[in-house]
Amino acid sequence: MATIERAEILSIGTELLLGEIIDTNSAYLAASLAEHGVDVLWSQRVGDNRSRIEAALERALERSDLLVLTGGLGPTEDDMTRESIASVLGETPGIDGELERWLRDRFSRFARHMPETNLKQAWLIPSAKALANPRGTAPGWLVCTSRNGSPRVLVALPGPPQELEYMWQNEVLPRLKFPAARLYARIFKTHGVGESAIAERLASLTAGANPSVATYARRDGVHVRVAAKAETIEEARRIAKAAERTVGHQLADTVWGYDNDELPDLVIRALEVRNLRLAVAEWATGGRLSGTLANEWRVTGRFEGGVAAWSFEAMRILGIPRSTMEQGDPESVVASLAEGVRNLFATDLGLATYSAASPSSKNEGSEAVAFVAVVDGDGTNIRRCSLPSQGRTWQQERLTFEALVFLWSHLH
Ligand code: ATP
Repeated sequence: MATIERAEILSIGTELLLGEIIDTNSAYLAASLAEHGVDVLWSQRVGDNRSRIEAALERALERSDLLVLTGGLGPTEDDMTRESIASVLGETPGIDGELERWLRDRFSRFARHMPETNLKQAWLIPSAKALANPRGTAPGWLVCTSRNGSPRVLVALPGPPQELEYMWQNEVLPRLKFPAARLYARIFKTHGVGESAIAERLASLTAGANPSVATYARRDGVHVRVAAKAETIEEARRIAKAAERTVGHQLADTVWGYDNDELPDLVIRALEVRNLRLAVAEWATGGRLSGTLANEWRVTGRFEGGVAAWSFEAMRILGIPRSTMEQGDPESVVASLAEGVRNLFATDLGLATYSAASPSSKNEGSEAVAFVAVVDGDGTNIRRCSLPSQGRTWQQERLTFEALVFLWSHLH
């Protein structure tokens, strides 16, 4: 197989064009290809329309070494990826005996009747090799062909991300040949400083191409990515080293994590290391904070539980009198919430969110001021957070992040 220098992604499905689902598959594939030193210069999204899928394929075959198609491998009439590939390559699909046996066996193992329309999933064309899909019923295709005398590789994968990602890692990547050039990247995840302020701090670095230094505003703060390309990963790492050190130094006071780090996971790990247990009281985050922590698989024994309530009456469960909720200043209310939940669950730490505006108020567009408190055996720490007017959902997500950062820094 020839080396893949340039790849193109074709995401197929009318739902993608209508905005009903977000095309996360192409982001996943693009990131993986970049990691392997492949340039992704185009990415197309096409509906379930055969002539348009074929036109997109023709265009991609003209200009890219590798085409990765996602979606449209289901058994129904509107799944047209196989037909389109066959037609563009001038080949005729036929049922592959081995794939048919596999498919029938899969259905019988789950005691399900196989509709005859599913036989389409056992199709192959002469130039295609089947890619096993242990997580679903649609096998993928890997096709080696050529266009204008240049080798081309087509890969077709099913749309569901858990199937696509597994097959990409296990069935596709091991079969592709990538450029010698490798990409090294380090991501710094920061908190508390805006993107432009960070860009200013790093001004001397952001002009270069290799290594490159770029900033991205994300939901969990500004990320700074230092990347370098070279023939080997060791060489790429060496090229990035000085920039990486400078970024680390310049942002030392703001970094909470690196690369794939996720804040809830870091918080739970910090609780684990210190053998501490946490409970959460939420007035201003509507249960998001508890939900975010509860998603972590290590949570048992660290996060005992939470109370999410937005009526004075309900907060009596934490032993907080109505008068405190009604008349107390926000700092003392948030401290009482954290203390109250710590007592209720008998934990080492109590964490609370509070805002003087009711979380169910209609002030969708207005700026909000909210408070976070952490209480432990040594006392109470409070942080005031300004939440710009970007809608309640955004504000609650932001405050959840602020609360986790605050707790994380308290634990360090
Ligand atoms: P199936 O055999 O499950 O029908 P398929 O290959 O035909 O798979 P589609 O029918 O196109 O895939 O999509 C199935 C589901 O996969 C979609 O409803 C959606 O949830 C998810 N999906 C499809 N394409 C994408 C995409 N580009 N990004 C994220 N999710 C996607």
